[in-house]
Amino acid sequence: LPQASPAFHFSSPGLIHCPQIQQVLRALTIPLERLQIMKVHMMQAMRRGLCRHTHAEATVQMLPTYICSTPDGTEKGVFLVVELCQNQIRTLMVTLFGDGNLSPQVVYKVFELPDDIMHGEGEVLFDFIAQCLSQFLGDTSSCQGRLPLGFVFPFSCKQTKLDKAELVSWSKGFSCSDVEGKDVVQLLQLAINKQELCQVDVVALMNDTVGTMMTCSTEGRPCEIALVADRGSNCCFMAEAHLVETAEETSGRMCINTEWGCFGDDGMLNDIMTPYDESVDDESSNPGLKRFEKLVGTLYLGEIVRHVLITLAAQKVLFPKSNVAVLKEKGVLQTQQVLDIINNEGTAVAMRVLEALGLAANERDCSRVQQICRAVVSRAATLYAAGLAAVLSYMCQTRDMDQLLVNVGVDGELFHGHTRFKEILQSVIKLLTPECAATLLPSTDGSGWGAAMVTAAAVRLEAQRREVDEVLAPLRLSRADLEHVQTLMRLEMELGLDQETNPTASVRMLPTYVCGTPDGTERGEFLALDLGGTNFRVLVVRVSEEGICMASEIYVIPTAIMQGTGEQLFDHIMDCIIDFQLKQNLTNQILPLGFTFSFPCKQVGLDKALLLTWTKGFSVSGCVGQDVVQLLRDAAQRKNHTGLKVVALVNDTVGTMMSCGYDDPKCEIGLIVGTGTNACYMEEMQNVGTVEGDQGRMCINMEWGAFGDNGCLDHIFTSFDRMVDDNTINPGKQRFEKLISGMYLGEIVRHILLVMVDRQLLFKGNPCPKLQTKDIFQTKFLSTIELNELALRQIRTILQDLELNASFEDSVLMRVVCQTVSLRAAQLCAAGMAAVVEKMRESRGLDHLSVTVGVDGTLYKLHPNFSHSLQETLQDLAPNCTVTFLPSEDGSGKGAALVAAVACRPTSP
Ligand code: ADP
Ligand code: MG
Repeated sequence: LPQASPAFHFSSPGLIHCPQIQQVLRALTIPLERLQIMKVHMMQAMRRGLCRHTHAEATVQMLPTYICSTPDGTEKGVFLVVELCQNQIRTLMVTLFGDGNLSPQVVYKVFELPDDIMHGEGEVLFDFIAQCLSQFLGDTSSCQGRLPLGFVFPFSCKQTKLDKAELVSWSKGFSCSDVEGKDVVQLLQLAINKQELCQVDVVALMNDTVGTMMTCSTEGRPCEIALVADRGSNCCFMAEAHLVETAEETSGRMCINTEWGCFGDDGMLNDIMTPYDESVDDESSNPGLKRFEKLVGTLYLGEIVRHVLITLAAQKVLFPKSNVAVLKEKGVLQTQQVLDIINNEGTAVAMRVLEALGLAANERDCSRVQQICRAVVSRAATLYAAGLAAVLSYMCQTRDMDQLLVNVGVDGELFHGHTRFKEILQSVIKLLTPECAATLLPSTDGSGWGAAMVTAAAVRLEAQRREVDEVLAPLRLSRADLEHVQTLMRLEMELGLDQETNPTASVRMLPTYVCGTPDGTERGEFLALDLGGTNFRVLVVRVSEEGICMASEIYVIPTAIMQGTGEQLFDHIMDCIIDFQLKQNLTNQILPLGFTFSFPCKQVGLDKALLLTWTKGFSVSGCVGQDVVQLLRDAAQRKNHTGLKVVALVNDTVGTMMSCGYDDPKCEIGLIVGTGTNACYMEEMQNVGTVEGDQGRMCINMEWGAFGDNGCLDHIFTSFDRMVDDNTINPGKQRFEKLISGMYLGEIVRHILLVMVDRQLLFKGNPCPKLQTKDIFQTKFLSTIELNELALRQIRTILQDLELNASFEDSVLMRVVCQTVSLRAAQLCAAGMAAVVEKMRESRGLDHLSVTVGVDGTLYKLHPNFSHSLQETLQDLAPNCTVTFLPSEDGSGKGAALVAAVACRPTSP
């Protein structure tokens, strides 16, 4: 802040030597430091108004308007507005052409409102409004189809929807019976219906401030604040909807009518109030209320000047030779006259005004009066600036932006009538909020034409939401859908476990020959491999009394090798092992090796496993049907490497279960939600028809990713899922996995976005070629986009990388799409898991099962909502089970070592 506090008014040196005048001017000048404090107080008051708990007592009411969208220029159609004004009904018809609102057609008509109607029955008032409308429509044009109407109703209402608002109390001279407490939208709609007009729908009700905001958007920069600097004072702006705790809406933004005129009613402004302000307040119809408004509203500025003049005249500093009784009369000095006095350089106007009041004023009186007028108006400008600075800073902070660029629509005679006002406003805003660049734009005929824009934007948003819902509906699963999936999974599990039906089951239920979880007595040093998705890792794991420690190295498997020959793949793996042993100084030891291999295998023994099929983007030739352990041993031989002792091959689900089982003995389920998805669990041997023996339990690798490959899930696949599936290297396979896991979610979202662009729901329908590229929309984007309400900037960044110019509403819509896709994934995963835990509970003859799931996979771990949705849905679907999810740390590698350790345990069979 600058050292000295600048005084924002003209000071003519010739006047300074009058101490009484000086004192008045000082009292009317608010230092920058004090404005800064007022800004902070205003922000606090705004927060209180928005907060559910403090709203009721808040001075600044922050009323939700349910207007969630500003015009974007694509609005098209015919819109009606009815505006209820002081003594008039104004009707307006606006035709928009979707051309950026550059050439709207506007027709309007004004009707005088008879005084007796303002005080008569409510029904009569609304009938009168409808009749005006009827006459207007009859005059203007024949109408076809539905006409949306916006209703400007500038009274205090309890609004609960854009088209639902109960009148709290009449003001401004109105007092119609039977309206207070009723929904005025409904009253107007009923009256309109009685007129048998063509189909006029009241779709939006708004206060007059809101309209101002809507008219001032310019290309590329929306107008998101409106200031009314008129008889009264008010401000509205677009707030982050989730911060508006008094309204249900949580996504996007909502226009808030601040009603900031009441700021200071709790005493916050007392120290800057002058004796003149006190006198104005005393004489007003509502003493003690609307303190801020009374410092800035044009209803009061003339009055403030009048009281200064009274004081100075009494001190004989002004009009010493006059009878000043006329100044005692309320309203003799109008704000318009004050503005006229300061808008003219010379004192001629002042002279004229004072003479008209019958005051004998000399040249000196006139310049003094002019000086006082300037001080009062300048003070109003600085106070407006502080209020606006509060709104700007609040917006900037809550949007998590370093810089805010925004248009501010300003309406009212103060702004239009006085250039100095605008200059002060602008420069003080800049001093108080250097981080915001606000462009002040005059609004022309704000409320009426703006109301049409509100209505148009609301209609557009409503139509868009309906169509978005239509696109997303197939992805939204009901509870019945999920129960059905659970039942089907259960059925497939039974089929897979039965020796006879196993070949036809889509869930293979592969025995793993792992019959127990770790008991803590395992010891030793092991090598481990983890192959099966995004990364290939080699690890060394030491299991000792102190616990487990390990070191690992990540190696890349090039796409050429993922889709090459078996020899190439296993040679590459051997190269990586040799490199690792060199780096870790392990070349002269032979360590037992556990191999986490996350593809479906028919396990013949712990160290013998025949590959059934590749998944997750692998398609290496010459491996299917082969023993994977043998393929690795063969490669070792080709490399003349003798220090390899493969003792166990495990699936990653099993590894995860084992590693979590080391910490939690109740862990009898393993779950992976990473590149792919799969699960395993401990099944009673007597239920495992595919393995001899009935004693104890064995871990079953479900291979649930293939659930649905037999067509049993066809009814839940959407067109998007089919498009994703068609573009994979294994179409028709791993259908369940393709609804859930990281390799596919981004793709599902991409296909939905393409359809939405096509239907002109996104990016204003602009084509975006880059979105045609497969895998360009990564699953990690879902995490970022869904993270929280503050991440909109990151959404923009992601979209800019895709060469997309996304509006705020586009970002909101993208988030809805991502949420829908990830929620479905989590719910389907829960339905599968519900089948597992319920089967375990029943097999064990328990009323209630308490079990832990060891879980791994980046999607599960990093997505902000997935794990929560999964657990919530699971609890709902399997209420008799208490399921704890334990994320594994490095599960698959550690688990492979533990399986090897269990196998190497001297006591093991
Ligand atoms: P794998 O399953 O291959 O062992 P991961 O468990 O690390 O490997 O899962 C990798 C997958 O997780 C990637 O394919 C990607 O789709 C997804 N992923 C990566 N980062 C994120 C993230 N931040 N949020 C959600 N998913 C992610
Ligand atoms: Mg993994």
